[in-house]
Amino acid sequence: MATETETDSRLTRGTQRAPTSWGLGDGQAIPWEYAPAPESRDVVSLKERYGLFIGGREVEAADGATFATVNPATEETLARVAKAAPADIDRAVRAARRAQKRSWGTLPGRERAKYLFRIARLLQERSREFAVLESMDSGKPIKESRDVDVPLAAAHFWYYAGWADKLEYAFPGRVARPLGVAAQIIPWNFPLLMLSWKIAPALAAGNTVVLKPASTTPLSALLFADVCRQADLPPGVVNIVPGPGEVGMHLVTHRDVDKVAFTGSTEIGKRIAKGVAGTDKGLTLELGGKAANIVFDDAPLDQAVEGIVNGIYFNQGEVCCAGSRLLVQESIEDTLVEKLKDRLSTIRVGDPLDKNTDVGAINSKAQLEKITELVAAGTAEGAEMYQPACDLPDRGYFFRPTLFTGVAQSHRIAREEIFGPVLSVLTFRTPDEAVEKANNTPYGLSAGIWTDKASRILHMVKRMKAGVVWANTFNRFDPTSPFGGYKESGFGREGGMHGLHAYVRLEDR
Ligand code: NDP
Repeated sequence: MATETETDSRLTRGTQRAPTSWGLGDGQAIPWEYAPAPESRDVVSLKERYGLFIGGREVEAADGATFATVNPATEETLARVAKAAPADIDRAVRAARRAQKRSWGTLPGRERAKYLFRIARLLQERSREFAVLESMDSGKPIKESRDVDVPLAAAHFWYYAGWADKLEYAFPGRVARPLGVAAQIIPWNFPLLMLSWKIAPALAAGNTVVLKPASTTPLSALLFADVCRQADLPPGVVNIVPGPGEVGMHLVTHRDVDKVAFTGSTEIGKRIAKGVAGTDKGLTLELGGKAANIVFDDAPLDQAVEGIVNGIYFNQGEVCCAGSRLLVQESIEDTLVEKLKDRLSTIRVGDPLDKNTDVGAINSKAQLEKITELVAAGTAEGAEMYQPACDLPDRGYFFRPTLFTGVAQSHRIAREEIFGPVLSVLTFRTPDEAVEKANNTPYGLSAGIWTDKASRILHMVKRMKAGVVWANTFNRFDPTSPFGGYKESGFGREGGMHGLHAYVRLEDR
């Protein structure tokens, strides 16, 4: 077991070498820091208390219960949120059923499209507000919520708005009917984006929804409720019910729900599959992952380094398709690891609302504890850990970008989903060995391949058991492109026409 922490001042974050013309001595380091560039919180009007959104109105929970949602970067309570109980779920499902029968389900597609276009426009108009709120509630860096989460969320509404009046072209020769009421449960890593992945196709196809956000990140979903009101969406078409996991189970097993869509852990996904078994409910599960990011010796290494960093440190590594296992061809391991360490030393960890921050706060104390425990298991099992020297804020849930070398396939850090900024490096000699190792996991969500040869990309892609394979890039998302997994990563696809398919019943003409 060995632990190495970078102390060489040449590589310390925020230092640069002085040009010799400055007369400071050859290659002497000049310390410099980015000035803080905080995004203003003023654009967000936080309420002290948020209700449930049922039947187009904000309502208290039936038993009046609430829970606190916390800013993981500061540990301050942001607001108290109504905590749905089973009676509230029943109320929300009733509202969704009524709306499906009386308004939404009877609207022609072109009318549904108008609402979806309106929602997309409102998300764009209020994008700064959404980005700041999302970063405050989840801990993700503002540059990601601003440049990735919110624009992609709006893009999903634009995209599915376009399909709402064209279902006959999406499914030629068939008649596409809505399923009815969809129960949707989303996680905390991309709260607004997962909401849009689920709500946009459901509404486009004529379904109504009851959505349960994760308990640590309910606020962007509740702000979305405000967008629904602003868009004049008929009451009951979208219902949002924050609450604990058990209430989520009550929702998915509710007898008046026609379709269940879940994104989250494999463990809960399995329980949901059991809860739905034996019914005629539609089910899509998007679960965990342990993706291999494979780098061949002919890859453009500097580009690969950027892709690897993006693959595992984007959103603090709290990404189901994160490239958490780096498979590197043995002959280039030393060079690539050295480059990675250099690059890690420039990553800025800290205040999510600072525009220069690369890695923000871990979403919750529980998640930080899980990451800490798995990293300790990594060193205990004999892998070699590297973390760059960087100061962490005194408060909040932060974790340094971490890289493990000397990792064996049997190590927990090579097998289990860590869901944190932790990369495990393994090696291979031949393409066959790379395929063997990449597929040696119960998961099958995503993979990455880095090579100069298109023929090798095609050779590998055919052999990878992963729903999404990126070549010479990583973590690219587009509403037109289906996303989903194999094996314990779940089944069904979200995005593109495939995503629409999960929300319709196809009948013969
Ligand atoms: P969960 O799977 O528990 O949470 C995801 C969603 O499911 C949340 O809305 C949660 O509600 C809800 N939920 C929890 N229990 C139930 C239940 N019995 N029935 C119905 N819904 C339920 O993930 P965790 O937040 O506990 O994270 C644990 C691990 O899961 C992470 O460390 C990570 O490895 C993995 N994960 C994977 C994700 C992915 O996208 N693949 C996303 C999130 C986590 P509530 O928040 O109230 O508990």
